[in-house]
Amino acid sequence: MRNEDKKIPYDKDLVFDVRGLKTYFPIYEGTFKKKKVNDVKAVDNVSFNVRRGETIGVVGESGCGKTTLGRSIMRLTEPTGGEVLYNLNGKMRDIRKFDEKEIFDFRKEVQMVFQDPYSALNPMRKIYDSFAEPLKAHGIETKEDLLMVMEDRLRRVNLRPEFIYRYPHEFSGGQRQRLCIARALAVSPDVVILDEPVSALDVSIQAQVINLLQAIQKELDLTYIFIAHDLSVVEYISDRIMVMYLGHIVEYADSEVLNKNPAHPYTKALLSAVPIPVVGRESKRIVLEGDVPSPIHKPSGCPFHNRCPQYLGDICKEKVPEFKDLGGGHKVACHIYD
Ligand code: SF4
Repeated sequence: MRNEDKKIPYDKDLVFDVRGLKTYFPIYEGTFKKKKVNDVKAVDNVSFNVRRGETIGVVGESGCGKTTLGRSIMRLTEPTGGEVLYNLNGKMRDIRKFDEKEIFDFRKEVQMVFQDPYSALNPMRKIYDSFAEPLKAHGIETKEDLLMVMEDRLRRVNLRPEFIYRYPHEFSGGQRQRLCIARALAVSPDVVILDEPVSALDVSIQAQVINLLQAIQKELDLTYIFIAHDLSVVEYISDRIMVMYLGHIVEYADSEVLNKNPAHPYTKALLSAVPIPVVGRESKRIVLEGDVPSPIHKPSGCPFHNRCPQYLGDICKEKVPEFKDLGGGHKVACHIYD
């Protein structure tokens, strides 16, 4: 047993336990770009966990670090600091310490669906070839077995099995995203990270894809990490939601609690922009002043202080708010609750 395994209590329902994750991108200057002058702090000290079978939503404006967060916990982008513990073969291990074999097993168990279904599929290759590559890498070799798996996955996303002999340009945006979902399912993962899976699609198609994702999750007992900028979509599919701002998590709560009782001023502003589907009822829109600050030069104290409608003065400008537990797993980082 490795030392790190001894220290970490095992919880069979825990899939990910992320502790103080940081992902920074260094900025270099000088003639040979050798002098490091600063960092883009895309993900800054983020902690959360993911339990088996749940959907955890990550929401925030573009540029808040949510995609980098997804890529960091897949190790597609190398984290700078912190730990990303993953339950591999019954042991919580830091993915940054995985050897090659463990990374290979991890990538089979955790798959990712990307935002843009147009660039996710190679236009020069038939769907069969795009699907065959990961399957062969994971030991499914014979044409008979390959076809059996591919046809099963296409049926699960409501596409016809013969589509595997076509090229990506022969499909609509919604069909392509369903193909990407089918390909992610090909190697029978336990966890799927969905990065803005519906934002490139028409509104009418978005609902179909979301409903399909929910049905597949139930059938295959999957765990989802669902990343999106649209809070109404995230709320609809998620059990728990984390709200991100400028690389930090500012609030987490159960989906229903967040909807009925948002605590952070930023969450309140996001929620106020969600249309209420009741005739005659309108929500009072909270319009945030100013632009999102640069993740290179973050504001001191609370990262939201220069846009916050409930700004409390010096304390917000000078002191980073810590998380307060409001009960029932609802946590918020804001001085209002000190
Ligand atoms: Fe607003 Fe202050 Fe709360 Fe930050 S800590 S969200 S600035 S009230």
